[in-house]
Amino acid sequence: MPSALIIGTGFAGIGMAIELQRAGLGDVTLLEKAADLGGVWRENTYPGAGCDIPSPYYSFSFAPNPLWPMRFSLREDIHAYLGAVTDRYRLREKIHFNTEVTGAAWDEGRGVWRVETATGRTYEANVLIPAVGQLSRPAWPAIPGRETFTGHAFHSAEWDHSGDLTGRRVAVIGTGASAIQFVPRIQPEVGQLTLFQRSAPYVVPKADTAYRPWQHTLYRRIPQTQLLERAFFWALCEFATVGLKSDNAITRSVDLLARAMRRRQIKDPVLRAKLTPDYPAGCKRVLFASNYYPALTQPNVSVETNPVKEITPTGVRTAGGAHHAADVIIYATGFRTTEFLGPMKVLGLAGRDLRDIWSGGARAYYGIAVPGFPNMFLMYGPNTNLGCGSIIYMLERQARYIRQAVQHLAATGSSSVDVRSEVADRFDEEVQRRLGHSVWSLCRSWYREPTGRISTNWPGLVSEYHRRTRTLDPSDYRVTP
Ligand code: NAP
Repeated sequence: MPSALIIGTGFAGIGMAIELQRAGLGDVTLLEKAADLGGVWRENTYPGAGCDIPSPYYSFSFAPNPLWPMRFSLREDIHAYLGAVTDRYRLREKIHFNTEVTGAAWDEGRGVWRVETATGRTYEANVLIPAVGQLSRPAWPAIPGRETFTGHAFHSAEWDHSGDLTGRRVAVIGTGASAIQFVPRIQPEVGQLTLFQRSAPYVVPKADTAYRPWQHTLYRRIPQTQLLERAFFWALCEFATVGLKSDNAITRSVDLLARAMRRRQIKDPVLRAKLTPDYPAGCKRVLFASNYYPALTQPNVSVETNPVKEITPTGVRTAGGAHHAADVIIYATGFRTTEFLGPMKVLGLAGRDLRDIWSGGARAYYGIAVPGFPNMFLMYGPNTNLGCGSIIYMLERQARYIRQAVQHLAATGSSSVDVRSEVADRFDEEVQRRLGHSVWSLCRSWYREPTGRISTNWPGLVSEYHRRTRTLDPSDYRVTP
């Protein structure tokens, strides 16, 4: 039986381990850099952190949770859910915590991956499955003077709970999915909040609801009822994704919805103009929040749209020279999304470095396999992110595909499979051609490399990804006996 090493214990790593275990391929070890599992749901502890995909859809299909407290769950509940599923499958004993992977190299002669860790311990396995996500390493902006600030500064993904924000002057830089969740939470307690916005996001209402006890009972007794809600949101996102494939009537209706919400919630025309996006809807992630604009209309909040030029020892200076004094700066500036596998050094056939192969942008066959890197399969790899939809749905498809590859190795007694470069190249050309027509190509965002290449998103519907990855085609691979 081939052995497998999985890097990371977020939804991707845990889902992958369960898939292999259920198929009887239980020789699995999971390496986790932190002391706990959970990926982004462990790391992001900012006030109000939660998921904007409804929980019945943002959960494993094989482990429905009838007891979600809310439709849009908060991180504590999602983290607890992942922990409970891990325990149900007795996976905790297979996780080596506090074990950060620094590099991995393919040993062609022996048909194994040799993995180095920061602890000094090395691991070997036939199959390597990096499951480290796209949204795990914070991006700090290159604003001059950042290190001179004498107040308190931190990134939203590394929230510092030690400091009290009560009555303080707080500067928030960034207006993405993270900022719109924590700004309404901290606004009532801070003295003054200055929000530095580089581009206005599209914000639409969040139809959240607390599930009642009778609904919990119903979901437990008749699981199909919860399945219906899951199917509804699946279908809604598939419909929305048709819009994201190009600028069309669906994206324009998102625009109308966002416009109506701004008219309803922001009475001041100057503030409303500031908060009006100047790019097509869907190009950056559309955000769901009903409490964001009301927080911005409070007297202790100001929205600054002049570009941030400099951080000074006492605050933030914007273009034009205005200085905004601050006691605390919170960087809600997102993640280093296009640096897949981050600081790890991964060496494939003939010692070729993955960083060199990906110097023109990360790419992989179905986001999973890279030519020249035998027996390495990525979870949530390049071009598998979604504009709308549950990433857990995609992860389950990837886990099934990878499990088939491992089964193929086991069944044929082969030492390795390596995706054919012509197959991977053809796939990449198709993906990039289709993304070139998508709404994501119309503005700058975390979906894109500095060169403009979109290396994060899947260009189609999740049902297409499901269909195309359902059965692994061995002829796509070079098999080494
Ligand atoms: P983000 O969407 O990348 O937002 C970063 C923000 O920082 C943007 O407003 C960006 O402006 C701004 N920014 C970056 N550099 C700047 C600079 N030098 N000066 C001024 N502003 C700057 O990051 P995020 O909010 O952390 O969210 C990232 C992703 O994580 C989300 O899109 C989502 O997929 C995921 N997430 C999901 C949830 C959820 O509910 N499921 C919640 C949080 C996060 P520009 O727009 O102009 O670049």
